[in-house]
Amino acid sequence: MTERPRLTVVGAGPAGLAAALAAAARGVHVTLVDAADQAGGQFYRQPATALGATRPQALHHQWHTWERLRTGLARHRETGRITHLTDHHVWCVARDPLTGAFGVHALRGAAREESATVRADAVLLATGGYERVLPFPGWTLPGVVTAGGAQAMLKGGLVLPGRTAVVAGSGPLLLPVATGLAAAGARVAALV
Ligand SMILES: Cc1cc2nc3c(=O)[nH]c(=O)nc-3n(C[C@H](O)[C@H](O)[C@H](O)COP(=O)(O)OP(=O)(O)OC[C@H]3O[C@@H](n4cnc5c(N)ncnc54)[C@H](O)[C@@H]3O)c2cc1C
Repeated sequence: MTERPRLTVVGAGPAGLAAALAAAARGVHVTLVDAADQAGGQFYRQPATALGATRPQALHHQWHTWERLRTGLARHRETGRITHLTDHHVWCVARDPLTGAFGVHALRGAAREESATVRADAVLLATGGYERVLPFPGWTLPGVVTAGGAQAMLKGGLVLPGRTAVVAGSGPLLLPVATGLAAAGARVAALV
């Protein structure tokens, strides 16, 4: 009997989820590894379960895409084609020179003290992008947060960074952040 190939996807954001679903649909056994507690990544960051959010979609755009990815993940998890490892922070990928197989090494737990290794025939990195913040005068003052930070507070914690906000900077992220804050009840005094 031929064993199914094993793919490890690092990152359960939209890109990693799309890759995992595509591979699983073609008979590959996928291990989806993510540092976060829930799938979704930056774009589809989900509120903490304990918050009991009743309308998380109100804070998102393109929710139907998330529903498709979420449903696909649940279906493949049920059939065993995808194993989803949450709270696994990957710090190293190493290749066995003899077998050619990969070892994906992760740390888990609140203190990141437990180690875990996933074996794979191939590894796909979908670890996303990060917000790069250039310091400016006043950037450490209370009430000053990054655009991504404000959005993470809102989507992940259902918290507004303030009742009135000036959203300033460059790049397209400002637009979903400004509309997200407004939709959640903040007054966006200016988008600069
Ligand atoms: C703060 C922030 C907010 C954003 N908000 C928007 C938005 O509202 N709209 C928009 O169109 N775009 C937004 N973007 C741009 C965004 O990056 C992309 O739209 C989209 O999320 C990219 O999808 P992705 O799957 O490539 O990566 P991501 O969504 O970033 O997913 C990457 C995943 O990889 C995981 N990961 C990273 N490193 C490791 C590791 N070492 N071990 C284990 N897991 C790891 C992360 O936990 C995450 O779940 C945002 C970006 C940032 C940084």
